[in-house]
Amino acid sequence: MSSQKPLRLLLLSYPGAGKGTLSSRLLKRMPHINYVSSGDLLRREIAIKSPLGIQASSFISKGLLLPDNMITSVIMDHLKVNSLLSGETSWLLDGFPRTIGQALSLDNELVKYNSSLNLVVEIDVPQAVILKRISSRYIHLASGRVYNLDYNPPKTPGIDDITGEPLTKRSDDTIEVVQNRLNEYSKTITPLREFYEQKGILRVVSGETSDITYPLLEKLVEKELAT
Ligand code: ATP
Ligand code: MG
Repeated sequence: MSSQKPLRLLLLSYPGAGKGTLSSRLLKRMPHINYVSSGDLLRREIAIKSPLGIQASSFISKGLLLPDNMITSVIMDHLKVNSLLSGETSWLLDGFPRTIGQALSLDNELVKYNSSLNLVVEIDVPQAVILKRISSRYIHLASGRVYNLDYNPPKTPGIDDITGEPLTKRSDDTIEVVQNRLNEYSKTITPLREFYEQKGILRVVSGETSDITYPLLEKLVEKELAT
């Protein structure tokens, strides 16, 4: 895949709709894309018990969103430190922006670099599927790789296929916390969706599993890169 044009892609969806899985598949096809997952970044900070991690965990454990200014500075720092703002780098953003305030802040920063998001894809999965899926989900913390005991199990139970390291359960993947995460999403998605719709960059893909949604996502990305 040639990388003539930078891809600035944001994935939006309810928790558990498969953003992590779809991202892995897309990155395998297009390895030049830089994956930026707000949840993965925060979980790594929590694992090393950094001041940010300790602060973030009080929100995450309850299924509440971090304040906009806190998460925005985490992501902007990550983009700066990894030299992702300038130049022709491609990104896949997973989990940020997820409020209108975050979207406006990101836009304001990108304008300075003569840049902007060029594709926002909303993954539309039925809620009943989501709840079932989260209960059987395991992750590899260091990479963010996601496994599902029902339809995408690791080759060896409890072990990451690539590194051989142990898998863990996300502490916020419990019924009560998931319910709060779903509520937070419902509260914030409408203005965010409208914001990107008005820019003409919002697309929606629907389906119950990533085997259905992935090819649709890939097609949208290829079309965007070809224009
Ligand atoms: P999934 O990973 O299943 O799609 P999710 O979107 O709820 O679910 P993450 O993106 O991993 O999960 O985020 C986990 C938690 O981290 C959120 O519940 C929230 O507390 C915090 N968080 C992550 N991104 C943001 C953000 N952009 N703004 C505020 N809080 C965030
Ligand atoms: Mg995620």
